[in-house]
Amino acid sequence: MPPARKRPVSARISPAQAWVKQLKKRRPGVVEDALSGLATLYGTPVWKPRMDPISELVTTILSQNTSDTNAERAFTALRARYPDWAAVEAAPVRSLAAVIKSGGLAAQKAPRIKAALRATRERSGAYDLSFLTAMEPLAARDWLTAIPGIGPKTASIVMLFCFGVPLMPVDTHVERVSKRIGLLPPKASLQFAHDAWLDLVEPSRMYEAHVALIRHGRGHCDALRPDCGRCPIRARCRYVEKRAP
Ligand code: SF4
Repeated sequence: MPPARKRPVSARISPAQAWVKQLKKRRPGVVEDALSGLATLYGTPVWKPRMDPISELVTTILSQNTSDTNAERAFTALRARYPDWAAVEAAPVRSLAAVIKSGGLAAQKAPRIKAALRATRERSGAYDLSFLTAMEPLAARDWLTAIPGIGPKTASIVMLFCFGVPLMPVDTHVERVSKRIGLLPPKASLQFAHDAWLDLVEPSRMYEAHVALIRHGRGHCDALRPDCGRCPIRARCRYVEKRAP
């Protein structure tokens, strides 16, 4: 039997990887320049874990489609009502939904939280997600996104914030700023955006990039009235100039 022919390299890379490859060729240094510009505004954030992984996962589920304040209120109510995670997992969906109602969409979020806790317990024997650090980043993301109601943003938040694993959570700010600068295609899907960011930046700068883009999206790069005149990225931003380098 003749040896199998290798597929050309171009046929093996994903559309997101192909986009990043072209971007780096056509607009060399654009990501680095954007991050340098953002650093002049916001400094260089340094990663440190902010809460235990299961709490982060539950909080992130609670924060879907609502404000951080509402999510925190719902999380506080949940911790006050149940003595431990086993009690949350065992709680009837309707009871749990009533407890977390201040977070909105409680009827959807309650089963998601229970499913996440069950999957974690069945995998680790406890409510402990540290086994994810032994996995490749994308395998860990896949494990989390196999849980109903957990998408790439939620999975990436847990991996980046709890374990420092270089996955980019693409929220509304990251998406808007990235598209305006032209780091992502204007019509990129969220899945495409999550995949592209894996190759857009050095893994060691993923946290810095995430935090800086969020701050920029909440500050200068406002959804309705971006303050381009005072933005250090304007020379390389395609929202300002369609053919910006
Ligand atoms: S130049 Fe304007 S649109 Fe571009 S990143 Fe800065 S604030 Fe946003």
